[in-house]
Amino acid sequence: MKRIINFSAGPATLPLTVLQQVQEELLDWRGSGMSVMEMSHRDKEFMSIAAEAEKDLREVAGIPANYKVLFMQGGATAQFSLIPLNLLRGKAGADYVLTGDWGKKAAKECGKYGKANVAASSESEKFTKVPDRASWKLDPDAAYVHITTNETIHGVQFQDTPDTGGVPLVADMSSDILSRPIDISKFGLIYGGAQKNIGPAGVTIVIVRDDLIGQAAAMTPGVFDYKAVADNESMLNTPACFSWYVSGLVFKWIKNEGGLAAIGARNQRKSSLLYDYIDAQDFYKNPVAKKDRSWMNVPFTLPNPELDAEFLKGAKAASLSGLKGHRAVGGMRASLYNAMTEAGVATLVDYMKEFVRTRG
Ligand code: PMP
Repeated sequence: MKRIINFSAGPATLPLTVLQQVQEELLDWRGSGMSVMEMSHRDKEFMSIAAEAEKDLREVAGIPANYKVLFMQGGATAQFSLIPLNLLRGKAGADYVLTGDWGKKAAKECGKYGKANVAASSESEKFTKVPDRASWKLDPDAAYVHITTNETIHGVQFQDTPDTGGVPLVADMSSDILSRPIDISKFGLIYGGAQKNIGPAGVTIVIVRDDLIGQAAAMTPGVFDYKAVADNESMLNTPACFSWYVSGLVFKWIKNEGGLAAIGARNQRKSSLLYDYIDAQDFYKNPVAKKDRSWMNVPFTLPNPELDAEFLKGAKAASLSGLKGHRAVGGMRASLYNAMTEAGVATLVDYMKEFVRTRG
C-alpha cells in the first residue's frame, strides 16, 4: 500500500486510523454480521451509531442544549436554498457578506425566495480579504446575516466571529467546520458538508438554534423543513448512513487527538509553516491579506503559469496530490484540513524549495 499526501479541497484526506477502523468493521460491524452499508437505518445498530455520532459531535464542538444537530443531505449547495426557505420567517430578506464565490452563490439562491442584500463584499478586491466590519451595511430587520467563514477557493477566512447584534448569524463552515474551537452560541445556524473536515461526502451537518426553526415557508419541501428533520432525528427518510457512521468515527478521532484546542493549534502550525515559507521568498505568492488568510486552504501562484504543469508533475512524482488551484484563481492550492499531517505540509514545503532550486 502506498498512500499519497492528499491536498485536495474536498472530498479530502481522512485520518488513516479512521480508514483502518472502517476497513476492520466493513464486513461485520461489531458482531452484527453485516456492514453498516447494509443496515436498516431503523435497526438498533444504526440508531446507536447515529446517536453516538451526535453525542460526540456535541461534546467535541461544545454545542449548547438549545441547538439542534441535523444530519441532512444535498450538500452545502442545498442549504443555500434551505436557509432562506426555513429562516426568512416572513421577513423581506437577509444580509450576505461576500468574501468569495461560495457566498455569492448562497446569496444568489436566497434571491429566489426573498431579498438578498449584499451588506459587504470584497469582490472588487478579487476576494483577497474580509471587508472591515465597520463598512458592513447591515439591515436591522434582516432575517439573518450570512457569512462564509472560510472561502475554500480564495483562501480567505474569518479569524473572529463578527457581532451582528440581535440578527442571527448564519455561517457556511463547509471548509473550516471543526478546525478549531468556536463559540457556537454566537451563531444562529452553522452548516457544512462532511467531505472536508469530517468524513465522506453525503452528510451535511446543520447546527441550528431552537427558536429559529418551525416557521419554514409553506413551499419548503417537507423533507427539508428543519423542524420536521429535527423532530424525526434526521431520519425523516433514509439518511446518508455510511457517511454518518464514518463522521462519527472522525468525531471520536478528534476527541482522541485532544479535542478542537489541539486540532486548532496543529492547524495553525501547519498553515504557518507554509505561509512563512511563501512570505520568505519571491517565487511563490499568496494574494490574501495576512490577517484574513485561511488555515485550511492556501492558494499560491508561481511566477509564470507556464510552470504550473511542471510543478504539478514533479509534485505527483513526490506523492503530493490535489494541488491544482481552482480555475477561478489559477496557480496552486494546498488544502490543509484536520487529517493533513504536519509532516505532509513539511514535505510540500521541501518540494516547493526543491522546485525553486532546480527551476527558479
Ligand atoms: N461552501 C463552501 C465554502 C464550499 O467549499 C463548498 C464546496 N467546496 C460548498 C459550499 C458546496 O458544497 P457542496 O458540494 O457540499 O454542496
